[in-house]
Amino acid sequence: MPAATGEIVLGIDTSCDDTSCGIVKGGKKVLSSVVSSQDSIHAPFGGIVPEVASRAHVERIAWVVEEATERAGVSFEQVKAIGATQGPGLPGSLLVGWEFAKALSFAIGIPFIGVNHIEAHLFSPFLDREEEIDFPVLGLVISGGHTLLAYAKEPFRFSLLGQTRDDACGEALDKVARILGLPYPGGPHLEKAAEKGSPRRIKFPTAILPGTYDFSFSGIKTHAWRVFQENKYSREDIAASFQEAVINILASKLLYAINSLPVKSIVVGGGVVANRKLRNVLSHIQTESNIPVYLPSPSYTVDNGAMIAGLAYYLMKEGKASQKEEDIKPALSL
Ligand code: AMP
Ligand code: MG
Repeated sequence: MPAATGEIVLGIDTSCDDTSCGIVKGGKKVLSSVVSSQDSIHAPFGGIVPEVASRAHVERIAWVVEEATERAGVSFEQVKAIGATQGPGLPGSLLVGWEFAKALSFAIGIPFIGVNHIEAHLFSPFLDREEEIDFPVLGLVISGGHTLLAYAKEPFRFSLLGQTRDDACGEALDKVARILGLPYPGGPHLEKAAEKGSPRRIKFPTAILPGTYDFSFSGIKTHAWRVFQENKYSREDIAASFQEAVINILASKLLYAINSLPVKSIVVGGGVVANRKLRNVLSHIQTESNIPVYLPSPSYTVDNGAMIAGLAYYLMKEGKASQKEEDIKPALSL
């Protein structure tokens, strides 16, 4: 990759259960990305405990930021702006990163930019990528907290097309994994179990919500629970059939969108992108539709500060002024 040009921006995300800081040059070249995962802390509870998450953020944030500057070989004097997640997220978690970033920007005397966490996930496939991604772009975010389709005619102005009416896709995977007795976070464990099962033995009633860009996962989640109670099928077969049903819902909405709108590229962000079966289906959609599908590199699928720093750079270039007077927005949408 040629030497990156442009200002250095530091980004912080503490929206949920990962404490993260990334340093990005010119909006795209990641100089460092440090993510301190809290999975092992929340695992015994089978899900995220908000109070525990914010306390862990407090304990880790200073170390994570220091580690990110060290790994990037960058001093605070070289940083031109600081970005932090303004929302959506858990209030107690958001507050830690937001106030830390604000205090740091005051101390260094540089602009402070609030970033929408969902827009940052949609931006994550642009990180460390040399080739240009053509607009209009169709964006899909599939994470533990969100499932939505977005559309942008120009960089990076995404507007919402549709979203889940109940569970997020990762949340549904985690809940079914829990029903099957798999450890938290369940998505990757469910994927492993599914590899040993057949997706064809159990029929799932997939809710497609025709004519909308909305998703629904609670019906198939309940069906998984019922099938498990029947005690007729193996854990592996339930995992494989449920995973297939989730992927079918995602694929059908993507296809509906590319058949309804002018789309030159597709970007997908969020933790569920790590799923190999889903990646295969996305690659099939790319071949069939002739529309390139761009995925973030694995380290940027999870919540990370680099995607916040990258998007903050472009927001700054567009003239977004410093937001030192603003507060977190836990319910922020697109
Ligand atoms: P995020 O909210 O973006 O941090 O993503 C976390 C979500 O991604 C959780 O619900 C995980 O279970 C899910 N996830 C992570 N890896 C996989 C995988 N390989 N297959 C399915 N879901 C996954
Ligand atoms: Mg996220």
